[in-house]
Amino acid sequence: MSSQEVRVRFAPSPTGHLHIGGARSALFNYLYARHHGGKFIVRIEDTDQARNVEEATDKLMTSLKWLGIDWDESTDVGGPHGPYRSMERLDTYQSYLNQLLEEDKAYYCYMTEAELEAEREAQLARGEMPKYSGRDRNLTQEEREAFEAKGLKPVVRFKVPQGDTVVIDDAVRGKVSFETEGIGDFVIARSDGVPTYNFAVVIDDHLMKISHVIRGEEHLSNAPRQALVFEALGFEKPKFAHASLILNPDRQKMSKRDESIMQFVEQYKELGYLPEAIVNFLALLGWSPVGEQELFTIDELIEQFSLERVSKAPAVFDTDKLAWVNNQYVKEADSDRLTDLAIPHLQEAGHLEADVSAEKREWLKKLVKLYQEQMHYAAEIVPLSKLFFQKEISYPEEVQPVLKEEQVSEVLSHFKSEVEQLEDEDFNPENVKKAAKTTQKATGHKGKKLFMPIRVAATGQMHGPELPDAIYLLGKETVLARLDQALEIA
Ligand code: GLU
Repeated sequence: MSSQEVRVRFAPSPTGHLHIGGARSALFNYLYARHHGGKFIVRIEDTDQARNVEEATDKLMTSLKWLGIDWDESTDVGGPHGPYRSMERLDTYQSYLNQLLEEDKAYYCYMTEAELEAEREAQLARGEMPKYSGRDRNLTQEEREAFEAKGLKPVVRFKVPQGDTVVIDDAVRGKVSFETEGIGDFVIARSDGVPTYNFAVVIDDHLMKISHVIRGEEHLSNAPRQALVFEALGFEKPKFAHASLILNPDRQKMSKRDESIMQFVEQYKELGYLPEAIVNFLALLGWSPVGEQELFTIDELIEQFSLERVSKAPAVFDTDKLAWVNNQYVKEADSDRLTDLAIPHLQEAGHLEADVSAEKREWLKKLVKLYQEQMHYAAEIVPLSKLFFQKEISYPEEVQPVLKEEQVSEVLSHFKSEVEQLEDEDFNPENVKKAAKTTQKATGHKGKKLFMPIRVAATGQMHGPELPDAIYLLGKETVLARLDQALEIA
C-alpha cells in the first residue's frame, strides 16, 4: 500500500468526553497524515447504541479542535467517502452482510443469552477458555425455520476459518500471529441488524480508503478479527500500527473508573492547561524523537513524527511531567491569554466579580505576570495569589519571629512613612524600591534585616513574588494597614 495516498482516521465511539488515550490516537494519526501530506478523517462509530451518549460527538470534536487537531473529512465538513457516522451507513453494511451470508462466510445464530451463558459456564468449569461453540454454524433450513417459528431473532456470526494463523504485520510490533483456534465465531450483526464494531470498521476502513490504522494496543486483539473480515470480503488490508498502552502514574493499567487521575482532555482544559502543552506531552506518550529535545511545537512534531519511533513499551502517564511541560509553555505564554484563563478561576473562588473592569483587568494581568514563572496551569493562580484577595492578614506562627526581631519596629515605621509620603499616582514598584532604599540609608539595616520584615508584614509570607511588584499590586492602602498591623506585633 506504500504508493497509495496516506489516509488515516480517528474513529471514536461517542461515549463521552475525549479520553487522553483517544486524544493520543487522534494526534498520532493527525501527525502521520500531515507529515505525509495525506488526509486525516474523523469518523464516528456509533453502532453500539447502548453506549452512545448524547452530545458526545460535539464534545469530542470540540476537544480535538481545542488541541489544534483539525480534519479533512468528517460528519461536519463532509468528504468524498461519507457518511462519516456509522449509523448512517446501515444500508452499506447490510449489503456486505448479505454477501458474506450468501457466500457461507457468515451465518445466523439463534442462541439465547441464557444458552450462551450456560455454554460459557460449562467451558469455564472444564477449565477451557470461553468461546462460542459454533452450535448454529451448520443449521439446516428446517432448523432455522423452527427457531424462527419460536420467535427467536438471530444475530449474524462470522465463520472463523479453523486451524489457521492470522498474521498482522504491525508497523510498531512487527509480525504478530494469532491462531484462529482461539477466536470463536464472533457476532458481526446484532439481532436488530445493526453491525458490530469489528464488522463496520472493516467496511468503513475499506470504503474510506484508509491506508493505515493507527490506534492503541487495546485494539490489537481486534486486529485478527478485522483481518479475517477484510479477507472474507476480498478487501486489501490497511497497514496496522498499534501504539503502546498508556499506564497510570502507578504503572497500572488505566481504568476509566479510576478517579485518582484526570483522564479527559476537557478536565485539563478546565484547569487552564494549554493545548499546545497537552499536544507536546501526548506526542511523547509512546513516541520518541531522535534527539534529546523535549519541547515541540505541533509543526515540529509533524515534521519529526514517524511510526518507526512509536514504541511498543507501555507509556506512563506522568502527571508531574505534564505539569512541568505545561509550566514551560505558561512561562512563554502571552499574559493576556493567561489572564483570560485565570479570570474564571478567580471568579469561582469569589475573588472577582462577574464583570471585570478594564482597570481591574490590567491589575490582574500584572498579578498573573507575578506568578507566571511558577504557575503550572491557570487554576493555580487561586492558591498562589491568595494574599492579594484577603483584606485582613493573619501572621502565621512561623513568620512571627521575623516580626519580633529587634530592628523591625524601626524598619517598618520608616518604610511606612516613606510609603505614606508617596502620592497615589507615584505609588509604583520603582518608588517602592526607592522607599526601601531610603529606609536602608536611614536605619542602617540592609539585606534580610530590611526586606524580610517588609515582606512578612506586607504578604504574611517569608517567600513569594518580587516584593516591589507585590507591594504595588497590593495597593497603598492595604500595605499601610498591614504595616500597622505588623507594627503591633513588632
Ligand atoms: N470505535 C473504536 C474506539 O472508539 C475505534 C477503534 C479503532 O480505531 O479501530 O475505540
